[in-house]
Amino acid sequence: MHALYNFIIYCDVSLITFMKISILMSYKETILYSVIKAKCPRCHEGDFYETNNPYNLKKFDKMYKKCTVCGEDFERETGYYYGAMFASYGLTVAFGIALFIVMCVLMNFTEITFLITFAILQLLFMPIFYRLSRLVWINIFVRYKELKRN
Ligand SMILES: [Zn+2]
Repeated sequence: MHALYNFIIYCDVSLITFMKISILMSYKETILYSVIKAKCPRCHEGDFYETNNPYNLKKFDKMYKKCTVCGEDFERETGYYYGAMFASYGLTVAFGIALFIVMCVLMNFTEITFLITFAILQLLFMPIFYRLSRLVWINIFVRYKELKRN
Protein backbone atom coordinates (compact mmCIF):
# COMPACT_ATOMS: atom_id res chain seq x y z
CA MET A 1 0.00 0.00 0.00
CA HIS A 2 2.81 2.34 0.92
CA ALA A 3 4.61 1.62 -2.39
CA LEU A 4 1.45 2.35 -4.34
CA TYR A 5 1.00 5.63 -2.47
CA ASN A 6 4.62 6.59 -3.23
CA PHE A 7 4.13 5.70 -6.89
CA ILE A 8 1.00 7.89 -7.12
CA ILE A 9 2.84 10.80 -5.51
CA TYR A 10 5.78 10.25 -7.90
CA CYS A 11 3.46 10.29 -10.96
CA ASP A 12 1.69 13.35 -9.64
CA VAL A 13 4.92 15.30 -9.15
CA SER A 14 6.29 14.28 -12.58
CA LEU A 15 3.04 15.27 -14.25
CA ILE A 16 3.03 18.66 -12.52
CA THR A 17 6.69 19.23 -13.49
CA PHE A 18 5.94 18.23 -17.08
CA MET A 19 2.93 20.57 -17.22
CA LYS A 20 4.96 23.45 -15.75
CA ILE A 21 7.70 22.94 -18.36
CA SER A 22 5.26 22.71 -21.26
CA ILE A 23 3.38 25.84 -20.11
CA LEU A 24 6.67 27.76 -19.77
CA MET A 25 7.95 26.49 -23.11
CA SER A 26 4.81 27.39 -25.02
CA TYR A 27 4.58 30.84 -23.39
CA LYS A 28 8.18 31.56 -24.36
CA GLU A 29 7.37 30.70 -27.96
CA THR A 30 4.45 33.12 -28.21
CA ILE A 31 4.46 36.64 -29.66
CA LEU A 32 3.12 37.84 -26.30
CA TYR A 33 6.39 36.78 -24.65
CA SER A 34 8.49 38.76 -27.12
CA VAL A 35 6.25 41.85 -26.81
CA ILE A 36 5.90 41.87 -23.01
CA LYS A 37 9.50 40.91 -22.22
CA ALA A 38 10.87 43.16 -25.02
CA LYS A 39 12.86 40.31 -26.57
CA CYS A 40 14.10 39.68 -30.11
CA PRO A 41 11.14 38.48 -32.26
CA ARG A 42 13.28 35.74 -33.88
CA CYS A 43 14.99 34.00 -30.94
CA HIS A 44 13.03 35.47 -27.97
CA GLU A 45 16.33 35.69 -26.05
CA GLY A 46 18.26 38.80 -27.03
CA ASP A 47 17.04 42.17 -25.73
CA PHE A 48 15.25 44.47 -28.17
CA TYR A 49 15.80 47.74 -26.28
CA GLU A 50 19.01 48.88 -24.62
CA THR A 51 17.21 49.52 -21.32
CA ASN A 52 14.40 47.55 -19.70
CA ASN A 53 13.09 50.68 -17.96
CA PRO A 54 10.56 52.57 -20.13
CA TYR A 55 10.84 55.60 -17.81
CA ASN A 56 14.55 56.03 -18.38
CA LEU A 57 13.65 58.99 -20.60
CA LYS A 58 17.12 59.36 -22.11
CA LYS A 59 17.31 55.78 -23.34
CA PHE A 60 13.79 54.30 -23.42
CA ASP A 61 13.61 54.46 -27.26
CA LYS A 62 17.14 53.19 -27.95
CA MET A 63 17.08 49.85 -29.74
CA TYR A 64 19.88 47.51 -30.62
CA LYS A 65 20.64 47.50 -34.37
CA LYS A 66 20.95 43.71 -34.34
CA CYS A 67 20.02 40.97 -31.89
CA THR A 68 22.95 40.29 -29.58
CA VAL A 69 22.09 36.57 -29.49
CA CYS A 70 21.01 35.52 -33.02
CA GLY A 71 22.01 38.55 -35.11
CA GLU A 72 18.48 39.32 -36.39
CA ASP A 73 18.42 42.77 -38.03
CA PHE A 74 16.09 45.05 -36.05
CA GLU A 75 16.41 47.98 -38.47
CA ARG A 76 15.28 45.89 -41.49
CA GLU A 77 14.80 48.91 -43.81
CA THR A 78 14.68 52.71 -43.77
CA GLY A 79 11.48 53.98 -42.19
CA TYR A 80 10.46 50.50 -41.11
CA TYR A 81 8.99 51.72 -37.82
CA TYR A 82 6.63 54.27 -39.43
CA GLY A 83 4.32 51.26 -39.60
CA ALA A 84 4.47 51.01 -35.82
CA MET A 85 2.03 53.95 -35.85
CA PHE A 86 -0.71 51.50 -36.89
CA ALA A 87 0.19 49.25 -33.96
CA SER A 88 0.25 52.29 -31.66
CA TYR A 89 -3.19 53.37 -32.91
CA GLY A 90 -4.58 49.89 -32.32
CA LEU A 91 -3.14 49.70 -28.80
CA THR A 92 -4.46 53.18 -27.94
CA VAL A 93 -7.98 52.39 -29.19
CA ALA A 94 -8.00 49.06 -27.33
CA PHE A 95 -6.83 50.80 -24.15
CA GLY A 96 -9.44 53.56 -24.59
CA ILE A 97 -12.28 51.08 -25.04
CA ALA A 98 -11.16 49.04 -22.02
CA LEU A 99 -10.88 52.17 -19.88
CA PHE A 100 -14.28 53.41 -21.09
CA ILE A 101 -15.93 50.10 -20.17
CA VAL A 102 -14.34 50.12 -16.71
CA MET A 103 -15.03 53.80 -15.94
CA CYS A 104 -18.33 54.62 -17.67
CA VAL A 105 -20.11 51.27 -17.86
CA LEU A 106 -18.96 49.53 -14.67
CA MET A 107 -18.22 52.50 -12.38
CA ASN A 108 -20.66 55.15 -13.67
CA PHE A 109 -18.13 57.98 -14.15
CA THR A 110 -19.13 60.78 -16.55
CA GLU A 111 -17.70 60.93 -20.09
CA ILE A 112 -15.69 64.09 -19.34
CA THR A 113 -13.99 62.37 -16.36
CA PHE A 114 -13.19 59.48 -18.67
CA LEU A 115 -11.69 61.79 -21.32
CA ILE A 116 -9.50 63.64 -18.81
CA THR A 117 -8.33 60.36 -17.21
CA PHE A 118 -7.66 58.88 -20.66
CA ALA A 119 -5.57 61.91 -21.70
CA ILE A 120 -3.52 61.86 -18.49
CA LEU A 121 -2.93 58.10 -18.68
CA GLN A 122 -1.94 58.37 -22.35
CA LEU A 123 0.72 60.92 -21.42
CA LEU A 124 1.97 58.80 -18.51
CA PHE A 125 2.02 55.54 -20.50
CA MET A 126 3.50 57.09 -23.66
CA PRO A 127 6.94 55.44 -23.31
CA ILE A 128 5.33 52.04 -22.69
CA PHE A 129 3.01 52.35 -25.72
CA TYR A 130 5.92 53.56 -27.86
CA ARG A 131 7.98 50.50 -26.99
CA LEU A 132 5.06 48.05 -27.25
CA SER A 133 3.99 49.33 -30.68
CA ARG A 134 7.46 48.78 -32.17
CA LEU A 135 7.56 45.28 -30.73
CA VAL A 136 4.06 44.48 -32.04
CA TRP A 137 5.00 45.82 -35.47
CA ILE A 138 8.22 43.78 -35.86
CA ASN A 139 6.47 40.68 -34.46
CA ILE A 140 3.95 40.85 -37.32
CA PHE A 141 6.76 40.24 -39.81
CA VAL A 142 9.31 38.16 -37.91
CA ARG A 143 8.42 34.66 -36.69
CA TYR A 144 9.91 32.83 -33.73
CA LYS A 145 12.57 30.26 -34.58
CA GLU A 146 14.25 28.21 -31.87
CA LEU A 147 18.00 28.70 -31.62
CA LYS A 148 20.11 25.73 -32.67
CA ARG A 149 22.57 25.04 -29.87
CA ASN A 150 25.71 23.02 -30.47
ZN1 LIG B 1 17.56 37.14 -31.58
